Amino acid sequence: MFRWRNVVIGGTVVLMTLVVQAQRLSDTVIPEHYTLTLQPNLDTATFIGHEQIDVTVKQPVDAITLNAAEIQFTSVAAVLDGRERLGKVTTDAQKEQATFSFGQQIPAGPLTLKIIYRGILNNELRGFYLSKAGKRRLAVTQFEPTDARRAFPSFDEPAFKATFDITLIAPEGAAAISNTNVVSDELGPYAGEHTVHFATTPKMSTYLVAFLVGDFQCVSGKSDGTPIRVCGTADKVQYGQFALSAAAYILHYYNTYFGIRYPMPKLDLIGIPDFEAGAMENFGAITYRETDLFIDDKTASVDEKKNVAAVVAHEMAHQWFGDMVTMQWWNNIWLNEGFATWMENKPVAAWHPEWHISQDVAAGLNRTLDYDAQKITRAIRARADTPAEINQMFDAISYGKAAAVLLMTEQYEGADVFRKGVHDYLQAHMFGNATAEDFWNAQAAASHLPVDKVLSSYVTEAGEPLLTFAEPVNGTVQVTQQRFFLNPQAKAEGQQTWTVPVCFAAGGGQAKCDVLDAPQKTLQAPNAPVFYPDAGGRGYYRFALTDADYARILAAVENGLTPEERISLLGDKWAGVRSNHDAVGDYLNLLVAMKEDTSPAVIDSAVRPLSTIDRQIAQTPQEKQAIAAWVVKTFRPAYDRLGEPAPTDSPDKKQLRASLFGLLGSIGQDTDIIGQAKTLAVQSLKDAASVDPNLAHVAMAIAAENGDAAFFDDLQHTYETAQNPQTQDMALRLLSLFRNPDLEKRGLEYDVSGKVRNQDAVIQLLIAMQSPATRDVAWDFIKQNWDKVQAQLTTSMGAYLVGGASSFCSEEKKQDVVSFFSTHKVPASDVALQRAQDAIEACITLRADQGPKLQQWIAQQR
Ligand SMILES: [Zn+2]
Repeated sequence: MFRWRNVVIGGTVVLMTLVVQAQRLSDTVIPEHYTLTLQPNLDTATFIGHEQIDVTVKQPVDAITLNAAEIQFTSVAAVLDGRERLGKVTTDAQKEQATFSFGQQIPAGPLTLKIIYRGILNNELRGFYLSKAGKRRLAVTQFEPTDARRAFPSFDEPAFKATFDITLIAPEGAAAISNTNVVSDELGPYAGEHTVHFATTPKMSTYLVAFLVGDFQCVSGKSDGTPIRVCGTADKVQYGQFALSAAAYILHYYNTYFGIRYPMPKLDLIGIPDFEAGAMENFGAITYRETDLFIDDKTASVDEKKNVAAVVAHEMAHQWFGDMVTMQWWNNIWLNEGFATWMENKPVAAWHPEWHISQDVAAGLNRTLDYDAQKITRAIRARADTPAEINQMFDAISYGKAAAVLLMTEQYEGADVFRKGVHDYLQAHMFGNATAEDFWNAQAAASHLPVDKVLSSYVTEAGEPLLTFAEPVNGTVQVTQQRFFLNPQAKAEGQQTWTVPVCFAAGGGQAKCDVLDAPQKTLQAPNAPVFYPDAGGRGYYRFALTDADYARILAAVENGLTPEERISLLGDKWAGVRSNHDAVGDYLNLLVAMKEDTSPAVIDSAVRPLSTIDRQIAQTPQEKQAIAAWVVKTFRPAYDRLGEPAPTDSPDKKQLRASLFGLLGSIGQDTDIIGQAKTLAVQSLKDAASVDPNLAHVAMAIAAENGDAAFFDDLQHTYETAQNPQTQDMALRLLSLFRNPDLEKRGLEYDVSGKVRNQDAVIQLLIAMQSPATRDVAWDFIKQNWDKVQAQLTTSMGAYLVGGASSFCSEEKKQDVVSFFSTHKVPASDVALQRAQDAIEACITLRADQGPKLQQWIAQQR
């Protein structure tokens, strides 16, 4: 799956709360094949299912238990002793299970269960659900992790792989799409319907099954002989060409990389108007949120293009890693998500080298390290038994941290050796299931290096190490490791020791790596003009250096380090401030050394903490003004030197201009820039093609922050009438940025009015909760309108909303948040609430530690 990108997701598995009811199925009855016919009724939002499950009973049993939720059984039958017998069904709604008994023992051997049932097309964006586009209705599916059981009674665990024959009965004129190709399509059985049979699937897990019925249209292409389509509703499919080109490039790239051909007869990418996650890797039929698939190549910003390409590449990586070879159980979901998150970057970087994807990866690593350095975090592999626990596994640890650990391991082994390990692992478990051990044993066998120890230490230890380096002497350096926390008041319980490949930069040459596997060790470090113990910015650790080594780096920062290494250095310095090892002024001085940097990713990484300094550390209007003045003085010259936008500008130059413009207009409060932003925003709304889209996006945000009712009306109109999903999405998001309290309230009312899809409503509230300028009004609104807000919450959106309370910075607000959510419970959000509390406490500490240091620094600037 691809979770919504811009929210840091709270999530870890709490072991001590409830005694978890065992919800796992027994392994005495094994499904082999499903024959499934589904007949959705779009008008009544219900469906009828006819199902046969061929199972193998391994030892005699009295009854058969499988998963089912919100299913009404019409009949269950099985042939026993040569004659068909009707079964008795008992259901357990809490465990989401159904048990069939036939009044006699069921002998070992093959058995066919025949089931007729009814279900509902729900509006919760999970299971078999209803999506709406204008007056039209679509029936679509989202099963990961545990919702296939809402569409068909099934052995709904990833290790119960089976083959599937799927048939859809759809209204005449509506398209039907499933995992494999259509083998027959005939009118009937009743007037106004057609019946579509799909080819038998390979062995696969239930959570990867998909079926869709609706007015889909498609654009088609081909890659390495595999037919590819991008499909969506009639008004959206015109924006499918970019994703189609991406998919064609990526399919060939992966066929080559894995050395194993794409395993399905066709590939469909389908945009769905209502979709909770970003995308879902259903085998051969990937589904997407429309904004993660459809794009207008001419008016899209570089970031929007990168995003669509990345989500397409992510889901396609899953076709091998996750779909063809699947984790044995959800505790190892990182094998799916970490791998796809790491892999998505490779084909995109090869497709568009000018996008400098590796710099975005380095910036992402900083965010992940910050997340993992909070008091509440979890190991990559963690226990998860119930659906609520399993849902909380889809967090920044399974995605970002696992991906970062794979990247570090790849650098240590070398890319070709790592690829061989990947190939061998896939080949050995094709169409089966595997564990973390299977993966790292394959890597150790391919590389003859202790990568099994590296991976097992990072997969089982929570948090991250801080490596402290002494002065290097004669090609060696002493290093110690300890667990690192951003909040200086957090303490590790006992010594944690990671097995860390430490790679030393050699001025852009081949990195030299050694392994730290003890609390303290002397490593081999090559002699280089600048000692930098994090080659390529790919290490999953924070590091601290002697003052002399740091001074040498600072002197050579713009030509001695790669952009990725500069991004990593910025992250380390900022982590030093957050943990109170460094003063906030040290960080601001590093920014001065890098203010002329020409990489937009470096500048974005450099200025990201400025918003924390502005929002969390600065306490008075005078301090905020001093920061604003310093921002303009420091960065305005670099912005002016870029000159007027020209069509011939490189993507880097366009993005750099947009980044600096955004910085000057928001934190800098540069009145000249704010004026320009308002003009550009109006111009761009009138004619999107007339303004560089990168610049237009930041200009719109500044204009909304400073916007009036007329601009609000324009954006609302754009949201309600635009066809391009990116334009629509941007207009909606901007409505959450208005700082005028009356307009902010209008935006909040609108979010829960029913006119905004529930896939977006919570995101809107979250955006308003993020800024100190809007969060108090937003929080009061949420509390006073809880019934309306709660009506918008889908499975994971509830936890996001609770996590949004983390932007407060006072003891009083912390108590308020905790007491509110204690009496207004949101399912599967206990960890998000703990993380929010933790973040508020960290902010209070940061303000107390760094507030006086900021005042000192401001005094020195005069
Ligand atoms: Zn995924």
